[in-house]
Amino acid sequence: RTYTAAEDRYEKVPYRRTGASGLDLPAFSFGLWQKFGTDYAFATQREIILHAFDLGITHFDNADRYGPPHRAAQHNFGRVLAKDLAPYRDEIVLSTKAGNAIGPSPYLRGGSRKSILNSLEHSLRDLGTDYVDIFYHHSPDLDTPLEETVGALVSAVQQGKALYVGISNYLPDRTHEIAEQLRAAGVPLLIHQARYSIYDRRPEQNGLLDTATQDGFGVIVYSPLAQGLLTDKYLETIPEGARAQNSTFLSPDVIDETYRQRTAELNKIAAARGQSLAQLALQWVLRRPEVTSALIGASSVAQLDHNTAALDFPDFTAEELALIEEHGVH
Ligand code: NDP
Repeated sequence: RTYTAAEDRYEKVPYRRTGASGLDLPAFSFGLWQKFGTDYAFATQREIILHAFDLGITHFDNADRYGPPHRAAQHNFGRVLAKDLAPYRDEIVLSTKAGNAIGPSPYLRGGSRKSILNSLEHSLRDLGTDYVDIFYHHSPDLDTPLEETVGALVSAVQQGKALYVGISNYLPDRTHEIAEQLRAAGVPLLIHQARYSIYDRRPEQNGLLDTATQDGFGVIVYSPLAQGLLTDKYLETIPEGARAQNSTFLSPDVIDETYRQRTAELNKIAAARGQSLAQLALQWVLRRPEVTSALIGASSVAQLDHNTAALDFPDFTAEELALIEEHGVH
């Protein structure tokens, strides 16, 4: 079957400007961290990716690490790109990351020039594209001079293999430092990928969001649903096939009585607003102007439809925000 993108795809999700750059991103971006390896049916993966694009989700986030096994998610995305999305490559913002360990070799981890540029080469082959739009250093590497990592990111752009650069999981001080070095090299930091949700408010508290404003980069939030914990799915049981049942990244042990009570309270706040908890949680991260996009995962097309409706509701009142504050995790 040949794919043709939905004509009304740009009428669905709003776009937001990434920091002080010229790049717009959809309010919802799609990540291929889980269920895009060899563990899930390729036909379903393809259906979800194409549905996301039909919803106006033009940004797809990947990493050398995503699978299982490592690199498999990029390979799978590459198949969809080659078969279905190639005519739309100019309308897609692809990202990938390097730096988190993908093997025992010292060249398959960290922030060295060797690791970072080799990883990018390999990712481009897996994705079947000449360039990615955003290339990230996945996590800080305190054992490598920041100048070396900066040099590798700048080279990626100068070689035409990346259009923009980003970082992920850096604390505010090192973020500011790398932003300054990148700016001096003429390749401004586009974006920071950080974990942020009602259940993890560190970017608000540690100053990362303020650094974003000062240094002019955007923030793309990962795990805004706390991997599914900020939905109503775990209130009663752990459903068959859910991440808490089958992923090593989300332990069923976190679903205890404290979790259930707290989440039930948040679920009530959402219900009073006529939305689901998932929708409330996504709207909540996007309330911050520093946040460019909420980076979501999905294991079905239905989840995508449901989640991208999150901005169809009125803004939060001060009372609602205070209530959410009370039941969130600080
Ligand atoms: P989310 O917090 O959005 O969790 C998504 C998962 O929640 C889905 O895969 C699904 O899991 C479940 N879910 C989603 N919607 C619903 C719904 N409406 N009802 C019930 N369950 C739902 O984000 P992720 O943790 O998946 O992270 C998103 C992306 O962020 C990743 O793909 C990756 O690109 C990026 N990321 C980056 C990291 C970094 O270090 N830079 C680290 C982690 C993620 P299921 O149905 O399987 O239970």
